[in-house]
Amino acid sequence: MSILNATFDTPYHTAPFSKIKDADYKAAFIIAIEKARAEIDTITKSKEVPTFKNTIESLEFSGEELDRLSSIFFNLNSAETNDTIQKIAQEISPLLSEFSNDITLNDALFKRIKQVYEQKANFDLNSEQETLLDKKYKSFSRNGANLPEDKKGKLRDIDKRLSSLKLKFGENILAETNAFEMHLTSESDLAGLSEGAKEAAQQLAESKDKKGWLITLDYPSYIPFMTYADNRELRKTLALAAGAKSFKGDALDNQDNVLQIATLRHERANLLGYKTHAHFVLEERMAKTPETVTHFLNELLEKAKPAAQQEFEKLEAFAKNLDGIDRLEKWDGAYYSEKLKQKLFSLDDEQLKPYFKLEHVINGAFTIAERLFDLKFEEINTIDKYHEDVLTYKVTDLKGNLVSIFYADFFPRSGKRNGAWMTVYKPQSIKNGINNRPHISNVCNFTKPTKSKPSLLTFNEVTTLFHEFGHGLHGMLAQTTYPSLSGTNVFWDFVELPSQVMENWCYEKEALELFATHYETGAVIPMELIDKIKASATFHEGMQTLRQISFGLLDMSWHGQDPTAITSVKTHESEAFANTRLYPEVSQNCMSTAFSHIFQGGYSSGYYSYKWAEVLDADAFEYFKEAGIFNKEVAQKFKDHVLSQGGTQDPMVLYTRFRGKEPKPEALLKRAGLLTR
Ligand SMILES: [Zn+2]
Repeated sequence: MSILNATFDTPYHTAPFSKIKDADYKAAFIIAIEKARAEIDTITKSKEVPTFKNTIESLEFSGEELDRLSSIFFNLNSAETNDTIQKIAQEISPLLSEFSNDITLNDALFKRIKQVYEQKANFDLNSEQETLLDKKYKSFSRNGANLPEDKKGKLRDIDKRLSSLKLKFGENILAETNAFEMHLTSESDLAGLSEGAKEAAQQLAESKDKKGWLITLDYPSYIPFMTYADNRELRKTLALAAGAKSFKGDALDNQDNVLQIATLRHERANLLGYKTHAHFVLEERMAKTPETVTHFLNELLEKAKPAAQQEFEKLEAFAKNLDGIDRLEKWDGAYYSEKLKQKLFSLDDEQLKPYFKLEHVINGAFTIAERLFDLKFEEINTIDKYHEDVLTYKVTDLKGNLVSIFYADFFPRSGKRNGAWMTVYKPQSIKNGINNRPHISNVCNFTKPTKSKPSLLTFNEVTTLFHEFGHGLHGMLAQTTYPSLSGTNVFWDFVELPSQVMENWCYEKEALELFATHYETGAVIPMELIDKIKASATFHEGMQTLRQISFGLLDMSWHGQDPTAITSVKTHESEAFANTRLYPEVSQNCMSTAFSHIFQGGYSSGYYSYKWAEVLDADAFEYFKEAGIFNKEVAQKFKDHVLSQGGTQDPMVLYTRFRGKEPKPEALLKRAGLLTR
C-alpha cells in the first residue's frame, strides 16, 4: 500500500509530495474508493434508528481519505501535471463519477437521510447542523430521489440528453472557431497592431505553411486585432465571423440545440416540482428567486443606462472626430475605446511595474491581513513542496496558534494551466473535539524574474494576487465543524465576496504605501499614478455594466420562464436585448448560439452573479471605508460573520450580521462613477 493510503507522518500532516510516485495514484484511488464505499455501507446497514449523528454526520465524515487523495491529485493535475498524471486522470474520472452516482442513487441511504430530515425537530440541531442536513437531503432530492420510478427514469433520460446536447453545443463552437481564419498578405493590413501581435500572426501562418499573417477567432488573436487594428473593414469581417458562430444554418448551427437545452431544463425543473429552471438553480443561491435576480438586474440597468448612453455618445463623437466615422458599429467599440483611453490616461503597465515587485506585493498582502485579521505569515522550509518554485508558509494568530498552512505558487511553467486560482489540500473541520487547521494554496502565472530584473507585476497581476489571497483567507480563517460547509464551500453568488473585497485595498493610498515601492529607488508610488489607476479602472464602466446586465437578462430570459413557446432564437434574443442595446443590431449575428457560459458551462441562471458579487464587495468595502480601511472592529466582524463561517448559514444572514443591513447597489454605482453623472 502506498503512502497515499496511510496517515501522513509529516509536519502538520502536510502532503508528502517528495515521497509520492505518480505510478501509485491509480491503486491508491481504487483502495480509497473501496474504503469510502465500505463507510457508506456501514451507514446503510446499521440496525440503529437513523439519527443526525449516525447518518448525516457519518456521511459527512465518510470518504476522507478519498477526498484528501483527490485534492492532491487534481491540484497537481492543474499546477504540475505530466503525461502520466493526465493519463491517470482519464482512467480514474469514470471511477469517481461512478462512485458519486452510486451514492446519489443509493435508495437505502436516502431513506435514512429522509427519515432524519422529516424528524429534524426531534434532534435539537444547531444552525450549522441544520444547514448540513438540508444540504445532504437536497443533494438527493434535487437529483430525483423523491420521484416515483417512472419519473426517475424520465429524469435520467433528460440528464443524458442534456449532457450530449451540451457537449454538441460546445463542439460546434469549437469547430466554428477553428474553421475560420483571416489570411492577410499585406503588412499594411496589420497596421495598429503591436510587434508582438504581428509576430504571433506571422508564426501562426508559418505553422500552417502559409505566407503572411493569420488572424483567427481564438481570443489571443481576436482581441488584439479588434482592439488595435486600424483597418475597419477587416475588423468588421472578423467581428461578423465571431458573431455568427454556430448561427449559419449549417451542420454546426446551435439554434436547435439552444431551444432543446432550454426546453429540457424547463422540463427537468417541472419534474422536480420547480416552476422554471431558474427557480431550481436559484434555490441554492443567495439571490434565491428569479424575481430577485430580474429586479436586481433591472435596478442596475436603470442606474447604469444613462451613463452608458453618455459614454457611447462621447465615444461616437470621438470616432467621428478622429476618423469621420458616422455610425459607431460593434466592430468599432474596442478600437476607439482603447484610443480614447490612451488619450485620457496615457497609463501603461511599464510605468507601474517597477512599483510592484512580487516580494513587495506578497508582503503587502500579508501585512494587510495581519493588520485586519491578526495573522502572522512565516515562511517555512520544513514541509514538502511539489515544485521548487512553491513558497510555503505557516500562518498563526497573535498567540502563536496555527491557523493554516499556505502554499504560494506564482510562476508559469509547462505543466501548469493558465490563470490564477485558490485551492485546498486539506479543508478545516472539527472532529472529535479537534480543530483540524486547513492547508490552502494560491496558484498564479505571474511575470517571472529574469537575470537582471526581479518579478515585477502588472497592476492586473497585483489585483489578481489580492483576489486569490482573499479566497485564501476565506479558507484559512474557517471555523466550522463540517468540512463540506467550511471555507469557500458557500453558495456560488457569495463565493467572490472575500476575494473581490480584498482587491479594493490595491486602490487605496494607505495600503499602497505599505508595498508599492520602486524596486530600485524605494520611492513610494506617486499619488498621481494612483489617481490614474483609479480613473482608468472606471473607464467606460457604464457601457461595461450595461453589457454584463444584457448577458444576465438574456440568461434569465432563457431560464426564468417557460421556453416551450419560443420558436426563433434570434427574435427571442432581440427582445431580451431590447433595453440594453447601444450598437446597431446585426441581423446575421447571434449571441445565444455561442453563449457557452450558460448553455455549456455551469452559469445557467447564474450570469447575474458577476454583478451581484460586485455589489457585495463594494457594499462591504464601503463599510471599511466609512470606519477606515484598517479598522479592527469592522475587520473583526468580517472575520466573525463571513470569513470564518463558510456555508454554515444562509449568506444573506451572514452578510447582514456583518454589515448590519442587506447589501445595496449604491456603493458599487458610486465606485463605478455611475452615481455622480
Ligand atoms: Zn475568484
